[in-house]
This record gives sequence, C-alpha cells and structure tokens, in this order.
Amino acid sequence: MKQKTHTGKEVDRGSFIKTIRRIWRYLSEYKVFLTWVLLMVVMSSALGLLGPFMIGRTIDTYLATATTDGLALVLVGLAAVYFFHSISLWLQNYWMIGIAQETVFTIRTQLFTKLHKLPIQFFDKRQSGELMSRITNDIENVSTTLNSSVIQVFSSLLTLVGTLVVMLWLSPLLTLVTMTIVPIMFLGMKWITTRTGRLYKEQQKNLGELNGFIEESISGQKIIKSFSQEPKVIAEFLEKSEKVKKAGYWAQVYAGFIPKLMNMLNNLSFTFVAAAGGIFALNGMVSIGTIVIFTEYARQFTRPLNDLSNQFNTLLSAVAGAERVFDIIDDREEAENEIDAIDITDLKGKVEFRDVNFAYDRGEDIVQNISFQATPGEKVALVGPTGAGKSTIINLITRFYEPNSGVILFDNQDSQIITRASLRKQMAFVLQDSFLFQGTIRENIRYGRLDASDQEVEEAAIAANAYSFIKRMPQGFDTELKQDGSGVSQGQKQLLSIARAILANPSILILDEATSSIDTITELKIQEALELLMEGRTSFIIAHRLNTIQQADQILVVEDGGIIEKGPHHELMKRKGFYYDLYQNQIKTKVAKAL
Ligand code: ADP
Repeated sequence: MKQKTHTGKEVDRGSFIKTIRRIWRYLSEYKVFLTWVLLMVVMSSALGLLGPFMIGRTIDTYLATATTDGLALVLVGLAAVYFFHSISLWLQNYWMIGIAQETVFTIRTQLFTKLHKLPIQFFDKRQSGELMSRITNDIENVSTTLNSSVIQVFSSLLTLVGTLVVMLWLSPLLTLVTMTIVPIMFLGMKWITTRTGRLYKEQQKNLGELNGFIEESISGQKIIKSFSQEPKVIAEFLEKSEKVKKAGYWAQVYAGFIPKLMNMLNNLSFTFVAAAGGIFALNGMVSIGTIVIFTEYARQFTRPLNDLSNQFNTLLSAVAGAERVFDIIDDREEAENEIDAIDITDLKGKVEFRDVNFAYDRGEDIVQNISFQATPGEKVALVGPTGAGKSTIINLITRFYEPNSGVILFDNQDSQIITRASLRKQMAFVLQDSFLFQGTIRENIRYGRLDASDQEVEEAAIAANAYSFIKRMPQGFDTELKQDGSGVSQGQKQLLSIARAILANPSILILDEATSSIDTITELKIQEALELLMEGRTSFIIAHRLNTIQQADQILVVEDGGIIEKGPHHELMKRKGFYYDLYQNQIKTKVAKAL
C-alpha cells in the first residue's frame, strides 16, 4: 500500500509501521502507567459488557418467578457496575493523558534542540511558517491522538471481541442476525474513509501552505505595503484559503456521513434483532432477557467498529505528522567538527582563503578560486553587483557552509581543525537588518556576552553611541523591545547591534553596510561607532556605497563568484578596471540624484 502524505512524500506500509514503532518506543518509557491504563481498559470493557447482561438475566429471572424479591440487591449491583465502569474510564483517561503529555514534551524538546544543531542550509531551504507548523500543529496532532486513540483502539478491540464471544455463547443464531449489517457497514465505511483520508491529508497540506504564507506575509508586511502588493497578497491568500476550505468542506461532509450511517445501521440492526428475536422467542429458542441483551450488544458491537474506523483516520494523520517531525529529528546535523578539532581562544584575526570553491546544494560553483589574505586588524571590503557572491564568501568565513575544495585558514591554522563554536565566539556581526529579540535593551546588548555586568553593558552602549538614545527611552536600559524591534528606528537598531558586538569583543567582525537611508546624524554616529568597533579587529565589510570604504586596507571586487580585482582604493582607481567603472557610475548616479 502506498500513500501520499501531505508532505507529498510516498509513504509505504513499512515506514508507517516504523513510525508507529518509534512512537511506541517513546511510550514504552512509561510501562508501569501503560499497564495501569490497560488494566483499566480491560475493566471498563468487561463492566460495559456485564451491565446489559445483568439486565437481561434479571428480566428473565423475574419473568419466570413473577416476584420482586431481591430486586433492590440487583439494582445496587447494577449501580455498582456502572459506577466502576465510569471510574475505570476516568482513570484510564487520566493516566493516558499523563503519558501522552510526557511523550509529546520529549518529542517537542528533541525537535527544538535539533533545530539548533542543523546547518544554516536547512533553514535557507525552508519557509519558517512551515517549520512552525511542524513544531505546533504536527506535534499537537500526535498529542491528541495519543490522548484518545490509544485507549479507544484497545477498548474497541476488547469490546468487539468480548461482545462477540458472549453473543455467540448466548445464541449463535441471533448473533448471525446481528451481524447481517456488518458487511453493509464495512462497505459504507470503506467508501467514506477512503475519501475522508485523502481529503484530510489534502487539508493538512493546504493548511501547512496557508500557514507558511500567512507567516511570510506578516513578517514581510513592510515590503508588501511599500510595494503596494496588498491586493496580490490577498488574492493569493484567498486562493490558498479556498483550497483549505474546499478540502475541509468535503472532508467534513464525508466524515459527517459516518454517524448518520451508523445510526441508520444501528436502528436497522435493532429492528432485525427485535423481529428475529421475537420469532425465536415465540418458538422458545431464546428468552426475552436474551433479546434485551442482544439489542444492547448490537449497539455496543457497532460502536467500536465505528470508533476504530474513525480512529484510523486520526491515526493516519498523526502518523504523517509524526513522520514529518521525525524527519527533522533525523536530519543531518551541522557537520561534525573534525575529530581532533581544537577550541581556539585568542584568535589574532588573520584570515586566508586558498583556492576556495563552493557550490550550494552540489549545483554549479557559486564562488570559484577565491584566494586572499587579511592580516590581523585589516579592513577588508567586499564590493560587486548583487548576486556576485559577497554574502557567500561571508557564509564561508563564518563556516555556515564549508568549501567544496580549497582551504580557509585562521591564524595560519586550517579551519577544519578548529571547532566551529569556538571560532564563532571570536566573530561578531553587525547586519543591515539587525535582529533584536523580545526582551529589554539590556538583554539585547548582553546577547553579545552573557556574563557581562550591567556596567559593561552600559559602557558598550556608550562606546556604540547608543547611550543617549537609550537613556531617553521610557525605562532606559530596561525598556522592553518587541520581537521585530519595532519601537526603535533602523539606525538605533544598528547602534544596539554595534553595542552588542563591542561587548562580544571579537577578533573578526562582519559588517553588512546599511543600504536604507538613515538620517545624517545617526549615520555619523553609526560611522563613528563602527570605526571604534573595527579598531584592532579584522573586519569584513559588505559595502554598498563605495565612498564609505575608501579607507579600507583592501577591497575585494567580486563578480560572478570570482575576485576580479583586489587592492586599496587608490590602486584600484589607478587600474581603471571594474572598480573604477563602478565608482564612476555611483558618483554619476549621485550627482544625477542631487540635480
Ligand atoms: P551577493 O551577496 O553578492 O549579493 P550572494 O552570495 O548572496 O551574492 O549570492 C551569490 C549566488 O548564490 C546567487 O546566484 C544566489 O542566487 C546564490 N545563493 C545565495 N544563497 C543561496 C542558497 N542558500 N542556496 C542556493 N543558492 C544561493
């Protein structure tokens, strides 16, 4: 059997069973509680059978004797049976919820921990909304299923077998009558569930896409607004939402048939049992009490069949969800450090690329034969058209990606023998769109070095020219920032991230120069803070405006993944090559704009 899950991945029965086994491995941590749950399931199923049986037998007894002696005792007995039936149902539920929540807690923790071990490539390739959907929806799905389905499946099977055994024992003939509806039920359910199963999966898939889209359009609000793309986004949303609606509509419509069908078949079965039972009773083949037991059991017999098929759907969707979660848990982690990799603690800051080639996803080489050297404390600017490969070179320096060939050296040591974590501790980033976390300004600056004292945080803010604006904020350093950093301006965000970098005190600095226009005063402040920050550190600057990098010790001109020119500004200008043209062009545009 091959099924398509909503990931679009083919899942065969083998992997379905494998996933179930894997879930079982989590559950088996709680064997003691599971045993209790199972005992309670057995008890509730047995008591559920005993109730109607007692009623039937009581009717027979009192019909035969025509007295009411001892009826009170029977009633007390019946009350006790139904009381303990409820208690056992409640207890099995109570323990199972505990097991389910613990299991889901473990899976969620594993998933989240794993996310932080995955290479950047993993995130580059996925929509964050889709990932969010896995962490929330898929895990929630597993949780709901574990809460209810495990018990349901057990108790349905037990009730089914138990009812059948007692019915056969009481009257094989009436059992046969009761069973006449089973083939109809089976066919009807199959017809419905094949449709609902497919539709549910479609609904999940569409929902995942819709969630991803919504997430994207919320985080991209500014871009959407600034390009006046609202109508397009809304149209796309409607299209995706329509798909969810359609699949959801039909899934619900078909699923809605199930109780109606069951009800009808139940009534039909009741009619058959009553009619046939009446005839059998007249012929003295069964007692009236047995008919009562059968009418009740007939209902009990169809209910678990109904439950089982319902649970099967939920189970399918939960297993598909669990599979998506396990896919991430099993995904390849950021490549291990070489076995003998060492931690570096005091990097001087020499960086060297020797014949480095690199391709994303084993495609065409994005950067080719890159070689350069940056001595400690040097300012290296990367310039070139968009898509030339500047960010890719930075990705290699930070070791978010590893070269396919060639070597990268830090302080003359091959990067491969340095642990990634220790290397990244020696680096800091000041990016165009500085990322701020939800938390106070103080916490956001302290992100650079968690053990920094309040005084060190404030000193860093002073050095970053951020102190005065922070002091003007309502709660100063304790002002809460929102996750998207709204509440502070673009320029202020940059100053905060410079403060963060100053506090981190790295040997290597990566700067992505702001392209957005910032008011001149803030820009001066940023420039001044950056100058201070860069002092004594090897800095790599992705430059967009050439006038700001004239002081750089070295300019690497990147085009089509290769370094076509390198040297300081005046040398490159003398050469009258690509850089010269680029520079002239920018000046021309500037002049044109000024006019
Ligand atoms: P720049 O920073 O100079 O604008 P990039 O280094 O970002 O250029 O991009 C260089 C090339 O690599 C581009 O063609 C871009 O499409 C491709 N690229 C960038 N990031 C990825 C990625 N994560 N996966 C695949 N290709 C990428």
